[in-house]
Amino acid sequence: MYKTSTELSDMAQEIIETAMPRLIGCPIVYMTSDKPKKSGNMIIYADAEKATDKWSALTGVNFVITFYKDAEGLTQKARHILMEHELMHIGWDPDEGTKKIVPHDVQDFAAILNKYGMDWHKAQQVSMFEEGKR
Ligand SMILES: [Zn+2]
Repeated sequence: MYKTSTELSDMAQEIIETAMPRLIGCPIVYMTSDKPKKSGNMIIYADAEKATDKWSALTGVNFVITFYKDAEGLTQKARHILMEHELMHIGWDPDEGTKKIVPHDVQDFAAILNKYGMDWHKAQQVSMFEEGKR
């Protein structure tokens, strides 16, 4: 079952206000799923999706970030980093009319690696992000 999450929304707002002001005002909905998600045999903790133009018009929502079942077992710190990672996928610029999912620049975002180090996922119990490549 999918549910909207005020906990994730609050976490994201804090990150956006302190580190990603370009996303202030972006219509993002934050959801949890009580089901695990996998890609092959890799765990998917979370993902970021763009609403189609039709669904944006119907709902006013431009993006959806979902934390799946396995994200429940992560530490708060790791959930925070995971959210920051997902927010980096949000390509939104109302002035330019941009609405897209931003791909990783390297295997992970360089900004995450620079900020938290190459081994952040080991220290934080996260072994991979949604694409399962790490
Ligand atoms: Zn990613």
